[in-house]
Amino acid sequence: ARVEQCDVLVIGAGPAGSVAAALLRQQGRQVLVLERELFPRFSIGESLLPQSMEYLQQAGMLQTVVEAGFQFKNGAAFVRGERYTDFDFRDKHSAGWGTTYQVQRARFDQLLATEAARQGAEVRFQHSVSAVDLDGVKPRATVRHADGSDYVVEAGFILDASGFGRVLPRLLQLETPSNFPVRGAIFTHIEDGIAAPDFDRNKIRVTVHPEHCDVWYWLIPFAAGRCSIGVVAETSFLEKYQGSESERLQALVMQDPSLRQLLQHARWDTPARQIVGYSANVKSLWGKGYALLGNAGEFLDPVFSSGVTIAMKSASMAAAVLQRHFAGIAVDWEHEYAVPLKKGVDTFRTFVESWYAGGFQKVIFHEQQQPEIKRMIAAILAGYAWDESNPYVRESKRRLKALEEVCA
Ligand code: FAD
Repeated sequence: ARVEQCDVLVIGAGPAGSVAAALLRQQGRQVLVLERELFPRFSIGESLLPQSMEYLQQAGMLQTVVEAGFQFKNGAAFVRGERYTDFDFRDKHSAGWGTTYQVQRARFDQLLATEAARQGAEVRFQHSVSAVDLDGVKPRATVRHADGSDYVVEAGFILDASGFGRVLPRLLQLETPSNFPVRGAIFTHIEDGIAAPDFDRNKIRVTVHPEHCDVWYWLIPFAAGRCSIGVVAETSFLEKYQGSESERLQALVMQDPSLRQLLQHARWDTPARQIVGYSANVKSLWGKGYALLGNAGEFLDPVFSSGVTIAMKSASMAAAVLQRHFAGIAVDWEHEYAVPLKKGVDTFRTFVESWYAGGFQKVIFHEQQQPEIKRMIAAILAGYAWDESNPYVRESKRRLKALEEVCA
């Protein structure tokens, strides 16, 4: 087979891959991005966090995103029965962006990939990485084009940004199970028809199921009167619902009185989809000649919309390490990449675990809220999970546990 050369091979043109490609172009690297699908393609992960704006800005992609006309987002609202509480991300402990967008990923990912290409990355669609060989001086990947032809790419370094494709974790047997129970989501896009004057389109709305505190719904408003709606539960719970995905989703949504009321005029015009067992982990985030970005590494849980932010953060960190690597400096991927990346992921993990155990729900629905503490939690919900000046980042487990006890 034909052998091509490049400085960096990026597998996948999702947010992690496109941001990494743009940052590497800024360093003057020759970048090849191989994407299995043809864009635009559907992807889940539609509510961004303000922290991600910093990485879009670094990657020179902010203007494109701002001008695309996506739904503005300034916070998160939580609903349980009659209780409503919300966080305005502009009122937060950490410095940095306090607003962002809610995006249809088909369009968003296409914009980022186009921008990476405009900055000089070569982006090839319908080229799928099927094998890797790390034994030589340089890593090599075997690529299959949609027309059935194969070729080989020899790269200075490989960044795996293949998301749920998990290319290198599968090929290199890096996968380890997540500690979370197996959950799934059923979701779709609707014409929401929401007329309630007090409905805040600028916030994601997370609703706790009326009877099961570990079952929740997302309602993510988009521009032009549309929404993403989904439900998350353990698969054993979802399996109790029969019929098409759309029937199952609507049956579950109708169980919550506030959603039933809010969506009474909705048009369910798009078939629903289901995704199960998405939480995943790996033994290592790097090895000789490669590193894993975003979901190709670890994926926790969708409840705090942290996935795209973590994906872009990982791209930004990996690009910085590669800059030193290509400058001939001996780099330590474990201490310069994996350990600091996982710090923020672990902050989210603490909050995710507490959410499903019910403790964090007691905190946010508690009647007396201290403004200073609320601003620290708002910062984490806005994605600033690496800001060690925040006590709920620095000592997230201990602090959150203490707060849960106060609110119990
Ligand atoms: P992806 O976006 O998955 O991109 C990977 C790309 O790699 C894809 O385009 C794929 O086609 C390509 N690829 C795969 N295999 C190959 C191959 N062999 N060769 C070449 N290319 C390949 N995150 C949020 O931030 N906000 C949310 O509201 C949110 N909600 C979620 C809800 C659910 C139910 C789930 C499961 C996740 C949610 N997430 C959310 C997480 C979000 O979907 C991911 O974290 C995010 O898309 C990860 O980005 P990525 O760039 O790592 O991977």
